[in-house]
Amino acid sequence: MDARRFPSFRLDGKVALVTGGSRGIGLAMACALAVHGANVVIASRKAVDLKKATEDVAGQGISLSWVQADVTDKESVQHMVNCVVEQHGRLDILVNNAGMNIRKPLIDIEEYDWNQVLDTNLKGIFLVGQAAAKQMIQQRSGKIINISSIFGGVGMPFQTSYAASKGGINQLTKVWASELAPYNINVNAIAPAYIRTPMTSAWLEDEERYRDIVKSTMLNRVGEPEDVAGPVVFLASDAANYITGHILYVDGGWTAK
Ligand code: NDP
Repeated sequence: MDARRFPSFRLDGKVALVTGGSRGIGLAMACALAVHGANVVIASRKAVDLKKATEDVAGQGISLSWVQADVTDKESVQHMVNCVVEQHGRLDILVNNAGMNIRKPLIDIEEYDWNQVLDTNLKGIFLVGQAAAKQMIQQRSGKIINISSIFGGVGMPFQTSYAASKGGINQLTKVWASELAPYNINVNAIAPAYIRTPMTSAWLEDEERYRDIVKSTMLNRVGEPEDVAGPVVFLASDAANYITGHILYVDGGWTAK
């Protein structure tokens, strides 16, 4: 054993793209990557939110840049990846995070709802992953981190389209890991349980539901966006070089219970 060969958790000089980085889990992950040394670009649909997010975190000494993009639109996705590469010369880390949810009982789901969720959460992940992989294959290195959910593996009411999209993400994480391994590209997923963000805040306001969620969680609390920061830095770093095709549950023990 040679301790000098232990890999680093630092990300200095790496270039990262975080989709859905204007708020919630995406913004926390983007900040964590930047604090660990990466040059980070955040992307989402609303320029005004992206601008505000970068200004807010600048107050804490965190520097992010941004590009407007809609992950459901192939041209917009290619433009986003081109901007990152033009600005920084490469793309080392993709955090494929943009997502949404429409919670409804099975019998009430409209085709429009299904399409919205699947287009954003699954087609979006595919389009962004494909565009990033083309760049990473040229570089012969990269880290792709897809943001899944415990509902990719756990059955819960009212999550039909969301669970289908996240189950799909788990599968394409494994397929991409196998396909991209020869190019030194690691592909992993993070699967959080409930994290308090704009996506979940209204859902968590129901006191009975909130109590049930906390009761299902070994660590006895709902997660915060910062709880996903450590796992994403780890998977993006050289410390995770021998990990690929893995789904890392960040769930306070929910799925183990
Ligand atoms: P938020 O609603 O807080 O943030 C979602 C982000 O995605 C925003 O930046 C939003 O910006 C962006 N976004 C949505 N649609 C698109 C699109 N078509 N193109 C580009 N960007 C888009 O959600 P969370 O932070 O809670 O969730 C982030 C990820 O984590 C999602 O994939 C979610 O499924 C996953 N997750 C969340 C959990 C939770 O409990 N919060 C638990 C498990 C997983 P804009 O609308 O301006 O485009």
